[in-house]
Amino acid sequence: MNPFSYFWTFRGILDTTVIYTMSVLFPIMTEYFQDRSAIFESERILKESYTPNDLPERETQLKRLGLEVLSPVLNDAPPHNAFLYGKPGQGKTAAARFLLEELQDEVEDRSEISLTTIFQTCKGHHSSYQVACDLVEQLTGENPNGHPKRMVFTRLYDAFQEIGGIVVIVLDEVDNIGNKDMILYELPRARDNGHIEDMDVSVIGISNDMTFYDELDPRAKDSLCEVEIHFPPYDASQLRSILNRRSEKAFVDGAVTQEAIALAAALAAQDLGSARQAIRYLYKAGEFAALNDESNVSEEHVREAEDHVEQMNIAQSIRDLTIQDQLALLALTSLTAEDETPSPTPEVYSRYTDITSHVDTNSIAMRRVRSHLHDLDMIGVVSGAKRSGGSRGGPKYYWEINTDLDTTVNVLRENNRFDDVLDLIDKS
Ligand code: ADP
Ligand code: MG
Repeated sequence: MNPFSYFWTFRGILDTTVIYTMSVLFPIMTEYFQDRSAIFESERILKESYTPNDLPERETQLKRLGLEVLSPVLNDAPPHNAFLYGKPGQGKTAAARFLLEELQDEVEDRSEISLTTIFQTCKGHHSSYQVACDLVEQLTGENPNGHPKRMVFTRLYDAFQEIGGIVVIVLDEVDNIGNKDMILYELPRARDNGHIEDMDVSVIGISNDMTFYDELDPRAKDSLCEVEIHFPPYDASQLRSILNRRSEKAFVDGAVTQEAIALAAALAAQDLGSARQAIRYLYKAGEFAALNDESNVSEEHVREAEDHVEQMNIAQSIRDLTIQDQLALLALTSLTAEDETPSPTPEVYSRYTDITSHVDTNSIAMRRVRSHLHDLDMIGVVSGAKRSGGSRGGPKYYWEINTDLDTTVNVLRENNRFDDVLDLIDKS
């Protein structure tokens, strides 16, 4: 035996021992990071970007999308234009991605068919101009932002022409760009209008907004909505199966209890029926279990997770409020800190005017502040309880904040103008 191999084996053992001893003596990593492998087998699978390759709860929608919309491709013809709609978290994006990938696999070996699919999210875009610029960038690497609209579209058509064959464009969250927008009837008609030749462009629009379709410009409706496919909200049992499949891959065997899955599914079903929400609850519950060094994700963790996700959503809705809404909320927050809630509208209004003079903002009439409080009630940030016996015999509203006081204060603090008022709240 080569004496060096002894030496290296010995060195190997020595090195391992030294590293182990160092990590026991100086556990620097563990102070900041945590090994979550006792809970999660593969955390990636719980992320938003993961596309499942199995959606049995959407069998009906997938069949329609395949049979009624995409099948012409197998005959080297462009698919029909289609419109998928339903509330957020219903698997619309996942279904479209999954089936277009399947279709791509199907045609891979058939050289006579050239199929290109382009996914474009319209999130954060308010016009077809921005969407067209993004599409051009995706296809050519250059963003034509700033150039006249006609030129942007010409570049887009040139890029399509370059690709040739059949191009399917998925415009996801298309409701963001408004329902009178030209892209929705321009793209599906690109060939009819002579913008492209010897090739085809089809569009699949996806919308989270149920009213978008009803209010769609008739020309757009005509060209885009050859086939409409509705994605109804999931019920608790469907969400349970979705969570079961996801957790089998994502969590260590046996780390999640059936009770935890059932609870996450039930809570999401009662609220939005959204798979996204259910998955978020389970992921966060797993994180809470890991943080507490527990080896099982329990119902308790799911409840904690729901609470946390809810607070995060509310924090976001507070950020999105108008300044007058925020001032009404600030008034109520300050009364809450003094244990003065539930408070009747005039009391909230009086605090509101104190605050507006303090932060140097114009104040509006009590009637309008009341209406802002009702708006805040609608989005779940405050709650107003009706009691009879108002001054003119009408109902009298008593208001309180519906969120955690600390969360509310922290979010409101993002606006520096409120600092002085919030400092007073902190002291009380
Ligand atoms: P939408 O586009 O309708 O808002 P998504 O397709 O983005 O919803 O789905 C939200 C999340 O739920 C994603 O993580 C997705 O993978 C998952 N999901 C939705 N439906 C299913 C399903 N039937 N099976 C497995 N995962 C699903
Ligand atoms: Mg989506």
